[in-house]
Amino acid sequence: MSESALDRAHALAMRWQEQLDARPVGAQSTLSQLRDTFCTPLPDEGMDAVEVTEWLYGSACEGMVGSSGGRFFAWVIGGRLDSALAADWLVSTWDQNAALYACSPAAAVIEEAAGEWLKELLELPEDCSFAFTTGCQMAHTTALAGARNAVLRRIGWDVESHGLCGAPAVKVLCSDQKHGSIVRSVRLLGLGASSLRDVATDDSGRMKKTSLEAALKQDSSPTIVILNAADLNVGAFDDFQRLIPAAHDAGAWVHVDGAFGLFARASARHRNKTLGIERADSWALDAHKWLNVPFDCGIAFVRDREAHLSAMTLAASYISAQSGARDQIDWNPEWSRRARGIPVYAALKELGRKGVEHMIDHCCTCCCALVEGIGALRGAEVVAHPTLNQGLVRFRCEGNDAEEDDTLTDRIIERVNLTGEAFFSGTTWRGRRTMRVSVVNRCTGETDVARAIEAVARALRENSTPGHSEP
Ligand SMILES: *Cc1c(COP(=O)(O)O)cnc(C)c1O
Repeated sequence: MSESALDRAHALAMRWQEQLDARPVGAQSTLSQLRDTFCTPLPDEGMDAVEVTEWLYGSACEGMVGSSGGRFFAWVIGGRLDSALAADWLVSTWDQNAALYACSPAAAVIEEAAGEWLKELLELPEDCSFAFTTGCQMAHTTALAGARNAVLRRIGWDVESHGLCGAPAVKVLCSDQKHGSIVRSVRLLGLGASSLRDVATDDSGRMKKTSLEAALKQDSSPTIVILNAADLNVGAFDDFQRLIPAAHDAGAWVHVDGAFGLFARASARHRNKTLGIERADSWALDAHKWLNVPFDCGIAFVRDREAHLSAMTLAASYISAQSGARDQIDWNPEWSRRARGIPVYAALKELGRKGVEHMIDHCCTCCCALVEGIGALRGAEVVAHPTLNQGLVRFRCEGNDAEEDDTLTDRIIERVNLTGEAFFSGTTWRGRRTMRVSVVNRCTGETDVARAIEAVARALRENSTPGHSEP
């Protein structure tokens, strides 16, 4: 082990950190440049560890995206808190296999504590079980494995023994504004994408109760209902108070996709959007988004511990039953795994309940300022005003038809991203192209908002002056 490679890595990591704000936000390298650099024949001879570290940093940086900086608003990505990044470095250094208490007692207990803290923060049922997964999609998969087994067990089918061949069909009712991860999760669970049925949403993006009730009544198949705690386009929360009891009356399992929106529960200002959410059967969220821990970390919570346990456990559970400790392997889909709950623990310890609330409110305030600021520019209009941390804008030109404005919107996004000043992504919403604005990083500040608005203003100006380009 060469200590100086670690010193070098530390110095380079600090350099990245210091330069992040001054670098272009988007990646600068092209695909062919990156392939030319990295996709070379496997070397016969090795290289000194310090040199490898320096070479890697020097060769890769231009191809990295400044997504952990303050002016990245594409998709829903999130930043990383100092304590969480530091804890993540330690997790790599300790190099524990966080599968079993026996492999790493401290990792097991810290993850156990982090799960309990999250339940407390998000006011989820005290006795629900949890698992730290790679992301929200795998949190869905973990929770929905329990859901699938439970709804089939109720009609006498044992999935763990018999699998799904010959099993009665399960129907999965979800919002027509669902995230794509739901589809893949359902495919991975062997339910098939065709088990998914979209339920209509209203103008504000919330699932219609009448449509859900009609879909529940359609047939008597075992049913899973998936609700949104903030969809990724407009941050819409389904009406949990009305929908969950309706689903339960029909015998369905209710799962909530709360990838980022579940954190609204930590804010007094936004908590009312989540009323009744605690009555669901399972919840999935991401720590790598709005809790600002480094990639990767999602979390699944399940009310019916037995359903969760029986879907995931190996015989190893009997070891923990004796020791009284929590073996992660009983709740996670993986065997060997990284102790990704430790950075979550660190983040919660750094922020405390108040700090999380402040972070959530701060991001929402920045998102409003950004969306309204862009919307006020000539040639821009707000399509969805933020109610949380997500908003949509669109670019228009007088005399254009809708298709031409679609093309214009994509062109402006591309131009803004080329300035290196800010980075946004496009999305199709109700059939039209829009620019999505997502603020999920604590380090976004007023200056970042102002610089991003100016970058959009500049892209609009340049676009309306053909041939014009700034030095
Ligand atoms: C990001 C996201 C997901 C998927 O999460 P991963 O961590 O990428 O697996 C699911 N649902 C919503 C609403 C999301 O924003």
